[in-house]
Amino acid sequence: MNDAYLTDLLADTAERAGGYLRGLAQRAVVPSQDAVDGLTALDTPLPERPTSPEDVIDLLDRIGSPATVASAGPRYFGFVVGSALPVTVAANWLATAWDQNAAVSFLSPVAVALEKIAIGWMVDVFGLPGGSWGGLVSGATMANMTGLAAGRRVILDRHGWDVVAQGMFGAPEVKVVVGEEVHVSVLLALRHLGFGRERLIQVPVDGQGRMRVDSMPELDDSTIVCIQAGNVNSGAFDDATAICELAQDAGAWVHVDGAFGLWAAASPKFAHLTSGFEGADSWAADAHKWLNVPYDCGVVFARNPGDLAGVGALDPAGYLEESSSQEAEPDSFTPQMSRRARGVEVWAALRSLGRSGLADLVDRCCRHAERFAEGLEQAGNTVLNDVVINQVLVSFGDDRTTESVIDEVQSDGTCFMSGTTWHGQRAMRISVSSWATSEDDVEASLRAVLQIAEGSKN
Ligand SMILES: *Cc1c(COP(=O)(O)O)cnc(C)c1O
Repeated sequence: MNDAYLTDLLADTAERAGGYLRGLAQRAVVPSQDAVDGLTALDTPLPERPTSPEDVIDLLDRIGSPATVASAGPRYFGFVVGSALPVTVAANWLATAWDQNAAVSFLSPVAVALEKIAIGWMVDVFGLPGGSWGGLVSGATMANMTGLAAGRRVILDRHGWDVVAQGMFGAPEVKVVVGEEVHVSVLLALRHLGFGRERLIQVPVDGQGRMRVDSMPELDDSTIVCIQAGNVNSGAFDDATAICELAQDAGAWVHVDGAFGLWAAASPKFAHLTSGFEGADSWAADAHKWLNVPYDCGVVFARNPGDLAGVGALDPAGYLEESSSQEAEPDSFTPQMSRRARGVEVWAALRSLGRSGLADLVDRCCRHAERFAEGLEQAGNTVLNDVVINQVLVSFGDDRTTESVIDEVQSDGTCFMSGTTWHGQRAMRISVSSWATSEDDVEASLRAVLQIAEGSKN
């Protein structure tokens, strides 16, 4: 392949990608059935002969692009899905051209350097204790698993059991405490760590989904407590101050699932919600949600970085020889060896936004959520949660009506919201998590939802 050819291929692809992104605000948020059906055109027998790169890209763009969900656009409010800041898309392209393996610094000095800078910046943004350290992983699910694995090893170690050497069979019992509204990803992580669902102690929650501190079981030094910064439905924050105090007195390990909620710490207006979470031992967050970097990217931290040894390539004994966590390689802290250079986009996002830009991003999403709640309520619908950050739960009457409004909104395509069950009731969940959402997008979405809701009541 000659240089000019390579340049043309990449320039043509950039052109197509730019066109795709520019079109996002106009197109329906969900792909048409025709576009989805059209994907069968890609499902040919494995070709016997090569296809030219430009034909491959043409197929992807012509057939693939229309079959995307416009979750990178301004009116996607489903689940908790961030879009990607333009600078992170561009940084991702450059990083893809670099094609670095971020496992260790001799494979990629730049990838490891950027990951370390990004980790340090996030420790600062989240207000974690000095010396906290961690690594980039595929998302909050893996971050939860990594933090919980650290807690498991430390607790078992304390009771004379080396889980790295001896595994879980015959290990001393570890108690695991979760809230009744623990995110499924924590259950998934626990399951793979040897803590089945039926062995968990579930703490009842209050009207916003927060663990009831007065219903916490007795904690001891063989307990792991999982708390939430940002309930996936309501956005509510557990009372970290009280729970961490109980845990500290008992010698229990506290892990925080802060997938999107921890980012509230970046805004002076919302940071109070995250106070007390610095008292935990490990934390999980996502960068692909509220920080708006491309999929996939999550991050795990531990108060004592050495506690993460044993989840990665480095065994705990080996860690002791490292002079500092900052000098240790990323593959010591994460359960992956070869990895893409996720630090490039996190660094680019934070460098580009700065503290004020990041605070604006958080504030703007929360303001939009408030406007949704206000507009929906004014029209006579019921907002079910206290809108504390970017999440709104709304009921349009009985479950059937709510369900049909959600269905119609989803197929209408002006915007996209998910459905959920909240305290026994069906609800539409609106999550505002994109830099791209403007006030006009909120108004247009609100109009579409209200019109559909009006129609389904008649
Ligand atoms: C999204 C989410 C997760 C899982 O994160 P992934 O990035 O999908 O792995 C965990 N906890 C909460 C609260 C979430 O919102």
